[in-house]
Amino acid sequence: MPAIPLSGLIGQPEVAAFLRGIVARQRYGNAYLFQGPAGVGKGTAALAFARAALCDRVPGAAAFTKRADEEPSLFGDAPATEPAAVAIGDDACGECPSCAKSAALQHPDLKFLFPLSGEEREAEKGAAETLDAMREDPFFTFRYDRAASIRVAQTRELQRELAYRPYEAARRVVVVRDCDRMREDQYSTLLKSIEEPGATTVWVLTTARPSRVPATIRSRCQRVRFAPLSESLVREFLTGTAGVPEREARVLAALSGGSLARALSMRDGDALKARDAAMALLAPALEGNARAMWTGVQKFMNFGRTGREDLRRAIEYHQLWLRDVLRARHGAGRESLAFADREREIRALAAQIDATEVRRRLLVLEEALRSIDGNVTADLTLFSTLSRVAGSRMGEGRWPAHGTSRWDY
Ligand SMILES: [Zn+2]
Repeated sequence: MPAIPLSGLIGQPEVAAFLRGIVARQRYGNAYLFQGPAGVGKGTAALAFARAALCDRVPGAAAFTKRADEEPSLFGDAPATEPAAVAIGDDACGECPSCAKSAALQHPDLKFLFPLSGEEREAEKGAAETLDAMREDPFFTFRYDRAASIRVAQTRELQRELAYRPYEAARRVVVVRDCDRMREDQYSTLLKSIEEPGATTVWVLTTARPSRVPATIRSRCQRVRFAPLSESLVREFLTGTAGVPEREARVLAALSGGSLARALSMRDGDALKARDAAMALLAPALEGNARAMWTGVQKFMNFGRTGREDLRRAIEYHQLWLRDVLRARHGAGRESLAFADREREIRALAAQIDATEVRRRLLVLEEALRSIDGNVTADLTLFSTLSRVAGSRMGEGRWPAHGTSRWDY
């Protein structure tokens, strides 16, 4: 995860302008809630904001530190320095000692809380490993299981530190990633700290599920809203910065749903190969061969070893395929097709299917995605979805008596 400055944030111009305004004026609120879909840059923006707030060279930073010895707290409206006398900065300079430390995630006044999976006693190790991975992997994305949470030990340690003044900077910044994954008592600690007048701590909370954050917390935070990224921005990033080949980047960007993190997390697998495997499942359904289709589905589910995410993706490939068919029907050029490499097949299908039928199939897939989140039998769901997408009623009422696959939660 490279240290990206506020000026380098992708696709969130309003957010960047708002945060840079705060840095330039040096008027920090006690807490901010960054909310928006997963993987659109909330975490990156939170770190960029924190780094700007800790930079030695932004206006007022030095004067702040000097006077911090004399007064218990200068946070708030105290005029720390003559604004005209210092250079105007609204972003981390990237060159001062503070910036070097914050870029390495080693600034003593930068605290970072994030959800962890696994056992409580392993939490410390898990946290250290995650931080190492963040430092080393330029395209690091957070991945954790459903039960991952911000650990009590992490918040306790932070609580102890909050009793002291910041070590080096004028303020301390605490970034809490996915803050909806906390226990009730952790929220009350947080609340107490946010409400403390004259506090020197700036809280930056991020969440993709704001409704799960207690209203008491939400109401005390300034909300900063993030939008999904456009497909072309994600594609540009993948081909330009991440060096993903164009053909694959096109597919990943289309699958990403505007989430750069999702696109990045999928770039290790062979997206084109996975797509072709998913599309091949449909072939026997189109021929009306139920037996071959069932065998194909069983093979794909691999005795239940195929996870929910892979199943979801297989269905999403079919969605993208049909989206391309619709686009082709409306005369879209090669450039706007996600599966441009299979343009000929897409155009052939577009020529013989009507738009209503494509939409009907898209609805079937939509329904399948919803049921994957519920407690359904994977192989049966995939089987029935494919046969309905193929346009037949094949197999209805006489499906195999029982499914053999289950997936883990
Ligand atoms: Zn700096």
